[in-house]
Amino acid sequence: MLPRFWRKIKYRYNLIGSKCKNCETLYYPPRNICPKCRRRGEMEELELWDEGRVISYTIVHETSDDFKLNVPYIIALIKLENGVIITSQVVCNPSEIKIGMKVKPVFRKYGEDGEDGVIYYGTKFVPAD
Ligand SMILES: [Zn+2]
Repeated sequence: MLPRFWRKIKYRYNLIGSKCKNCETLYYPPRNICPKCRRRGEMEELELWDEGRVISYTIVHETSDDFKLNVPYIIALIKLENGVIITSQVVCNPSEIKIGMKVKPVFRKYGEDGEDGVIYYGTKFVPAD
């Protein structure tokens, strides 16, 4: 689950998906072609900045040094109000996370590169209530 989570880093961080103007289906990660409409479809990028609910989660106790994340942290599968399902970090006490919990996206510091001092920011989720 983790390697796939980190691969499309730009899109994960920015919560960008695509929407077919023809059938109005949302896709995340974004696609260039709507599999339903094919040539009739026209895709546009849009930000999926929306509240959602936790449908599954994993508590990560170890991480690669490259990411400098504080452990343990929570990676959750979140179903947004707009129907899109995404994978994201949820920032809360690991004992508080539960299935069905309402969460909202926030822009937070993700980690830093110790040698270069580069700080990465991105989208995370926090409890909404
Ligand atoms: Zn379509």
